[in-house]
Amino acid sequence: MDLGLEGRVAIVTGGARGIGLCEARCLGHEGCEIVIVDVDGKAADAAAQALRRGGQRATAFQANASDEQDTRRVVAAVSHRFGRIDILVNNAGIGVNPAWRVADMPLDDWDRMVGVHMRSTFLWSRSVIPHMHANGYGRIVNTSSMNFTGGGRPGVAHYAAAKAGIAGFTRTLAKEVGAMAITSNAIAPGYVETDLIAAFTPQMRSVLTRQNPVGRTCRPEEVAAAVAFLCSVQAAFINGALLCIDGGRRDFFWDDGSNG
Ligand code: NAD
Repeated sequence: MDLGLEGRVAIVTGGARGIGLCEARCLGHEGCEIVIVDVDGKAADAAAQALRRGGQRATAFQANASDEQDTRRVVAAVSHRFGRIDILVNNAGIGVNPAWRVADMPLDDWDRMVGVHMRSTFLWSRSVIPHMHANGYGRIVNTSSMNFTGGGRPGVAHYAAAKAGIAGFTRTLAKEVGAMAITSNAIAPGYVETDLIAAFTPQMRSVLTRQNPVGRTCRPEEVAAAVAFLCSVQAAFINGALLCIDGGRRDFFWDDGSNG
């Protein structure tokens, strides 16, 4: 199947590692011009270099995805350099460390979590829509989580709330941009093997694999393949969807009876 992605310009926030890097590589493999945006500038440069060594076209920008000025600066630079923006993957995110029960959660932790995930999704979407409209082609893919679809484990209410907000934003945006040949969709991955879950204990991992119908955690490449499809010409009528990539299990119960 031809995904029709050759020559399209794709921005991936948080693209220096983990799921974002796999998404960038997968879109690059399909012929996209890749723009990696990451707060970790060194890692972003290294990721773009690695993609170029593999024969892909990739550029890196250091930016805080939840900063309005950074967003405007990068979008203007990308538009100036490549003349178009076709794809935005809002992927930048942080893990929950430490976990806080709501009764004890500091406001700073709440604000940081909502800022990195939800504010960045809004800022980047707002900035690219005029460019996509001008192209007559746009694909926005936002990153929700099983921690929304299944409810998060105790201690991650801020993360679950941000991911729920992203799902609501995605559906509403879909209604606003559908007539412009732009789609807005979200993915809700289960636990994916990246640095984000590196601190999970062997006991937690055993619960994750035992309670998943597929019997394992997710590989970042599996998320990337789904995202590439949502970005394709073939997915023009998929708008406002929330695609669960979780092996069929949307909720987990730890051995202590809590879920997440
Ligand atoms: P990761 O930690 O491996 O990579 C995240 C990347 O985002 C890093 O390169 C980091 O530097 C970058 N980043 C963080 N804050 C940023 C900011 N303010 N501006 C720009 N870049 C920033 O994480 P991952 O596992 O690849 O997660 C990617 C996304 O997928 C996140 O939104 C996460 O919430 C979501 N997700 C992950 C899982 C999982 O199990 N790994 C499950 C569901 C959803």
